[in-house]
Amino acid sequence: MITLSNVSKTYGQGDSAVEALKPLDLHVPEGTIYGVIGLSGAGKSTLIRCVNLLERPTSGSVSVDGQELTTLSGTMLNQARHRIGMIFQHFNLLDSRTVFANVALPLELMGVPRREIRQRVTPLLELVGLSDKTDQYPAQLSGGQKQRVAIARALASKPKVLLCDEATSALDPQTTGSILALLQEINRSLGLTILLITHEMEVVKRICHRVGLISAGDLVEEAEVGDFFTAP
Ligand code: ADP
Ligand code: ADP
Repeated sequence: MITLSNVSKTYGQGDSAVEALKPLDLHVPEGTIYGVIGLSGAGKSTLIRCVNLLERPTSGSVSVDGQELTTLSGTMLNQARHRIGMIFQHFNLLDSRTVFANVALPLELMGVPRREIRQRVTPLLELVGLSDKTDQYPAQLSGGQKQRVAIARALASKPKVLLCDEATSALDPQTTGSILALLQEINRSLGLTILLITHEMEVVKRICHRVGLISAGDLVEEAEVGDFFTAP
């Protein structure tokens, strides 16, 4: 579902150049929850941002759902991005919009008619357990509830892939557990492929099928989660 081939990323040029990612390959099969783990500065964020081209890789190719992305730009790239949802550590909600309006935003931008927007947003808010918060503003919500809104928004365009950038790092352990359970439910019920990055082993242990270890911009180890944690 996601295939990175020979992807590298260098920020800046000359003396100030930082090689954030060495040329690496990564494959995430359809329906998998894949976790990339590593220390701060290892290149996790750069890696996940290369998948939807929030960062342009310096080299290599990125294929999502059978489509090569690095050759796309403008409208074509925007359309391809509808198949890739993303959530973030700090939720990135719009404070001036209600819960409903935050989730509706990507659909408005896609030009979906009002009536259809309502038909799509309502079940998404049900799915994330926020049907009773529709008209509230982000400031009125807990961290876990904000991330639920962000998950509903990420699902609005019916993506095939969900990218999670340290999605539980700002949450307490109990709330982390409930968000991980929701991601697992979405993976199971919608068949969504999930790529997440985290610095927390516990996140990988709890929901991931496969894990990749990134260190100094290199994918140094890869395994099924069961094998990774029982290795001698
Ligand atoms: P992680 O997510 O694992 O903490 P990052 O991908 O954020 O790692 O960073 C990898 C390396 O790239 C670090 O050395 C970081 O300082 C550097 N880096 C990240 N973003 C930029 C940027 N926009 N400009 C220059 N260097 C960057
Ligand atoms: P908090 O940040 O306050 O701990 P949570 O993110 O755990 O909140 O939950 C937010 C709301 O979603 C709560 O009202 C909770 O009852 C509800 N909820 C929790 N888990 C689920 C679930 N798996 N499905 C549907 N609703 C849920």
